[in-house]
Order: sequence, then structure tokens, then C-alpha cells
Amino acid sequence: MKHNFGAGPCILPQDVFKQAANAVLDFNGLSILEVSHRHKDFVAVMDEAIDLVKKALNIPEGYSVAYLQGGATLGFTIAALTMMRDKKSAGYINTGTWASGAIKEAKKVGVDVNVFASSEDKAFTYIPKDYSVPECFDYVHFTSNNTIYGTQFKAIPKTALPLVCDMSSDIFSKEINVSDFDFIYAGAQKNLGPAGATLYIVKDNVLGKSTSPFMPTYLDLKQHIEKESMLNTPPVFSVYVSMLNLRHLLANGGVKAIEKKNIAKAELLYNEIDSNPLFSGNVNHEDRSDMNVTFRLNDESLQNEFDTMWKAANIVGLPGHRSTGGYRASLYNALPIESVQVLVDVMKEFTRIKG
Ligand code: PMP
Repeated sequence: MKHNFGAGPCILPQDVFKQAANAVLDFNGLSILEVSHRHKDFVAVMDEAIDLVKKALNIPEGYSVAYLQGGATLGFTIAALTMMRDKKSAGYINTGTWASGAIKEAKKVGVDVNVFASSEDKAFTYIPKDYSVPECFDYVHFTSNNTIYGTQFKAIPKTALPLVCDMSSDIFSKEINVSDFDFIYAGAQKNLGPAGATLYIVKDNVLGKSTSPFMPTYLDLKQHIEKESMLNTPPVFSVYVSMLNLRHLLANGGVKAIEKKNIAKAELLYNEIDSNPLFSGNVNHEDRSDMNVTFRLNDESLQNEFDTMWKAANIVGLPGHRSTGGYRASLYNALPIESVQVLVDVMKEFTRIKG
């Protein structure tokens, strides 16, 4: 049994893997991979997958949920096109690679982007807080969890403007108040399900108000929602497994219960990083992510030895992103605390040998 600390696609509950495997062989007599997406059995899956998102996040009336393809990368574009109004200008907070991606794509569709807060000056190792949001934009965009650098917003930006959020790497990991947002999007492949589907949660009254001079059909979220995520062939398997995973989440106490577990996992690992003389965390303490824990060896010449030890302990997916180096332990919902303990034990043992 491997301990998978990968950043996504990532670990999902074993039980979900088993049910998904069974459905590949037998989903009401067919394989889930061959069933028509228009068949009533799959329409029921889609309906449940949408309904469970609403239940898990306590989504109030007046919001819709959709599953599309294209990843959060297409979400960058869809968010900008959907939220563009007369000003054609938006405020973005730049907290690293993915926020920068969102900025780039918004510009490409004609949004005048104003980056009013950024942590680029310190290599994205903190969440900017010392700003006030200029009230002159169509919307404000931020990335709730910085998957690569390991920072996370602990409070949402204060603004009366419509708030748009890329929640790819922390959605379903902690309680949120959906009514704080006008538009949320997230690639499925962390806490929701396998890669392939992208989740959109949108306030109904923002739909159909775009001032974009162009709106290709696939990028028109209003049409996806009107067609109940069946505008074209949806990512059938990813939606099916997301539904299984949401059933599993809700059967185990929902987001509230998993949030407690996630905090305990993160504390266990951060305590070891803080107390172990051989390691340092990469980012500001108060901004540390509970999902992606980034750290490094103080003496990089020890890397090969440390790598040999954690690999021998059946740990996978620990190297940091290619742009940052060091280590990144992703502690998504399905990762058990026992796996975090294995990593902590390896770090302790390594220090005992070296110390
Ligand atoms: N935003 C965030 C926060 C991410 O973590 C990722 C991928 N890891 C993306 C966007 C890009 O997602 P995708 O690969 O689904 O397009």
C-alpha cells in the first residue's frame, strides 16, 4: 500500500476506487464507459452529482451547479467571459502560477486586468493582506489555495464586488459560505474525483449578462446550466466517480467532519517541520495551506539520502513542483492521517540518523 502525497490527480477513498472499478464492468448490465450520456441511468447520475454538491456545500437557493470539461484552465476563460460587464475591467490577486494563469487568460478575452495585490515580491510565499479593493471593477478574482507554493487564504478578500474564486485545490476540504461568491470553479482532480470534469457553482443572476463581444457556445455557462450539464457529451466517468466520492463524503460526516481531519493532518506535519532542525517550511506560518504542505531540507546535500528513506517507506508524490523544488506533501481529503504519520516518522528517523 502506497502513501500518495501527489498534488492531483490524487488519492481518492479506496471504497470509491472499488465501486468505480465495479461500474467499469457492470453499470446496470453495461459498462459505465459504454453507457449513453442521454440514457436515463446516466441522467440520474448527473442529477445526483449536482445535487450532492449542493448538499455538501449547503448551497443556497439562487445558485446553479454544472460539470464541464476543460479543467480549471478553461475555467480561467469562462470566469472572465461570464463576469465581464460594461467596465470590462477586473481586479485580480496574484498568489502564484495558477492566479497568473487566470490573469493571462482574462486579458486574452479582453478584460482590463488590474493586479491590486500580489505576493510575487517574495516568490509567492505569503498571502497578500495589506490592501483595499478598489471598487471600480466588474469583479474580483482570487485563487483560494495555492497548490504549488502551499499558501491558502484563511479569509476571503473583503469587497462588495462580485467575487470569483478558483477553488481547485481546497474545495470540499473545509466549510465555505457559498453566498459570499458569485462564481466558483474547480478542476475535479483533487477532492472531488478523477481528472476530466470541472465544477462550476454560479449565482443564477450573473448568467446572461456578459458584455463580451464573442461567446463561443461551449464557453457559455448559461447554456450549460440550461441544458443541465448535457449541452454536449459530459465527462461521464469523471462525473460518475465524483458522485461516488460525494456520497462517501456525505456518509462520513460531510465537509464539517473532513475539515477537522484535514486540520489534524496539517498540524501533525507542520509541527514536525517546525520542530525538526533539518527541515524548514517554505511559506509564512499564518498563510500555510492545509492541503499542500511545502518544505525543504536546510542542507540540500542530504536530499538523496532523505529521498531514499521516504521511498523505502512506500511514500510517493512528495517532490515539490518543478518550479519550486523541495518537497510538497498534499494532504487531500482521502489521505489518511496514518500516511502523514508515516512521513513524520521518516523525518524523525532521518534526523536521528543524521543528528
Ligand atoms: N488552479 C489551481 C489552483 C490548480 O491547482 C490547478 C491544477 N493543479 C489549475 C488551476 C489548473 O487546473 P487544470 O489542470 O484542471 O486545468
